[in-house]
Amino acid sequence: MAGGGGDILRVERLVCSFAKRGVFGSRGAAVRAVDGVSLRLGVGGDTLVLAGESGSGKSTVAKAVMGAVEAESGEVHFGGERVEYGSAASLRRIRRGCQVIHQDPYGSVNPRMRVGQIVAEPLEVHGWGGGSAAARAERVEEALEEVRLEPAADIAARHPHMLSGGQRQRVVLARALALRPSVIIADEPVSMLDVSVRAEMLGLMEELQRRHGVSFVYITHDLATARHFGRRIAVMYRGRIVEEGPVGDVLLRPRHPYTQALVDAIPEPDPANLGREREVRIVDAAGAEVGAAPGVCRFRPRCPYAVGACADEPPLVAIGGGRSAACHVDIRGAG
Ligand code: SF4
Repeated sequence: MAGGGGDILRVERLVCSFAKRGVFGSRGAAVRAVDGVSLRLGVGGDTLVLAGESGSGKSTVAKAVMGAVEAESGEVHFGGERVEYGSAASLRRIRRGCQVIHQDPYGSVNPRMRVGQIVAEPLEVHGWGGGSAAARAERVEEALEEVRLEPAADIAARHPHMLSGGQRQRVVLARALALRPSVIIADEPVSMLDVSVRAEMLGLMEELQRRHGVSFVYITHDLATARHFGRRIAVMYRGRIVEEGPVGDVLLRPRHPYTQALVDAIPEPDPANLGREREVRIVDAAGAEVGAAPGVCRFRPRCPYAVGACADEPPLVAIGGGRSAACHVDIRGAG
């Protein structure tokens, strides 16, 4: 946590289920995309990394927080107040104070709008500056300058197709920052960018975080970027958090076999091995679709450390040093 001033965002025991669709559109069995997730994000410049493969449920957590999908149960607290998703005022409060950056800088902006209109849109929706067009224009220019899109007046007049992918993602960042939010949920914000501009974008986010004290939930499948941007990390597997703790400790000494597999997949920094992914130490990397029977550890079908006790799903428990893990085996001594 950064400023030590408590939590700006707290998620408690969140559960989200979706009905699977059959081949002919029939409603199938419900699938738990998020299964009892609890998270805390500190006020004033904290960063929580939410990591996991595609399908782990991390983006669904973000959507439920923003009220874009309905949670089956659980609570979300923002700025010390419980969010009531049935209340327009409560929803408006979190949607103003908590902004989202999506993965796809091409898909998340309207190609027919000019950059100035894109950045001004949330200001208009939330009545920034008492609804004054001049106040909005000033704020748009300021936000574009903050993300180093200059000259701002020239960029504001362009359409998204006239910008590079990196510039487009900075437009999305400017739009997120325009309302001066307390929280930004960045969902894979650099995964579609060229490697050469990823570090630049993450550096910019970090700089703006320091300057404005905005706290980030950084959602990623890529632990290499998590290492540079995060303070705490929560690793999700099939809807549950399986490991949590300070990002440096977790990545240096993973305690859950799934975290270890993700760490093993981080590309080598050694120039001789550049771009080559290390061997992933899980039984069936392609078998992510394989689910465990109900009540059994959900990682068991892929786990090289499984023992008899793994027939019971382990709870997430504190293991010291501000860390928690959901595994029956201490993998540091196993294997
Ligand atoms: Fe593997 Fe057992 Fe730990 Fe599950 S509880 S991750 S199966 S060792």
